[in-house]
Amino acid sequence: MRSPSDGFGPDHLPYGSVVTEEGRRLAVVRIGDAVLDLSPLGLFDQGSLDRLLGAGPETWRQVRGAVTDRLGSDPALIPLDRVRPVLPFSVADYADFYANEHHAANAGRILRPGGDPLSPNWKHLPVGYHGRSASVVVSGTEVRRPSGQYRDADGAVRFGPSQRMDFEAEVGFVVGVGNPPGTAIPVADFAAHVFGVVLLNDWSARDLQFWESAPLGPFLGKSFATSVSAWVTPLVALEAAWTAPPPRDPRPLPYLDDSADPSGLDLALEVAVNGSVVSRPSFASMYWTPAQLLAHLTVNGAPTRPGDLFGSGTVSGPRREERGCLLELTENGADPLRLGDGSRRGYLEDRDEVVITATAATNGGRVALGEVRGAIAP
Ligand code: MN
Repeated sequence: MRSPSDGFGPDHLPYGSVVTEEGRRLAVVRIGDAVLDLSPLGLFDQGSLDRLLGAGPETWRQVRGAVTDRLGSDPALIPLDRVRPVLPFSVADYADFYANEHHAANAGRILRPGGDPLSPNWKHLPVGYHGRSASVVVSGTEVRRPSGQYRDADGAVRFGPSQRMDFEAEVGFVVGVGNPPGTAIPVADFAAHVFGVVLLNDWSARDLQFWESAPLGPFLGKSFATSVSAWVTPLVALEAAWTAPPPRDPRPLPYLDDSADPSGLDLALEVAVNGSVVSRPSFASMYWTPAQLLAHLTVNGAPTRPGDLFGSGTVSGPRREERGCLLELTENGADPLRLGDGSRRGYLEDRDEVVITATAATNGGRVALGEVRGAIAP
């Protein structure tokens, strides 16, 4: 049995932001079940990671070195249960992709039966959409069931609370150093721009989404809330987790060609609903890698800024128990899941709680990414 502090050892040191019992906001690093106040290190007077993100890889290295030094000198730590984590950085822009072939093929098969499950562009570019940064919330925040337009089974168009609330198990990437307008970020420059990794739940109201999405894609069915973990794992803590992505055919265009350094990330995800594990997807199965996502996002000259967040898209695998959302797990509600308490779910009910966790190999152990937890409020 894993203790809550496992995976948060000195080889991990994820960053976050907390509010203390005295009401002070502090930028911190997590070690085990405690946090280290970063205020003495400079850069952190706002209590957030905003200035650190924009400072760049050399500063990221120096700060991590300084944190390691301080931890070696037995500093005063604050127990995790005496602080409340808050969103650790100001989310600049948010984009979400659709970069897992198993998810895209399952979704295509369920939504367009008889057609080609993948759209003709899918193996040529990472399909994505621009989302809403203002509704990105930290793990633990309740998510209100949205209302909107949907078309019900008899074809009538209605307005009301979503009847098909879903989660999407994803991995999010936090941009530190942005790119100016008119420039792009090549695949090879990923680590010079991206600071770290969070777990992400791209909550989805499927009935709203399916009715509104033609022809422009997701809008209100996604923009009401996106949850991210309270802890940002720096890329450097995941150095042992890089792996070869699946073979790509056809070979991507030159700006997406990563054959010189193909960099998939091997993260083992787990999704639980009300304490019952419903899925264990592997991020190593992603067709498009995080570096390709960022290269595509900027190839038209679109700028990015410190705090930009981009999601991978739902992480799914070839087997049923590796599917990362209820749309796939329950065939759009037609084949409900049975939870540990014997109850059945086609889609989420009010008060249901979804928790996404993940671990990655390090040299000699595993790191645990910060969990992303959220419950549905009526
Ligand atoms: Mn998504």
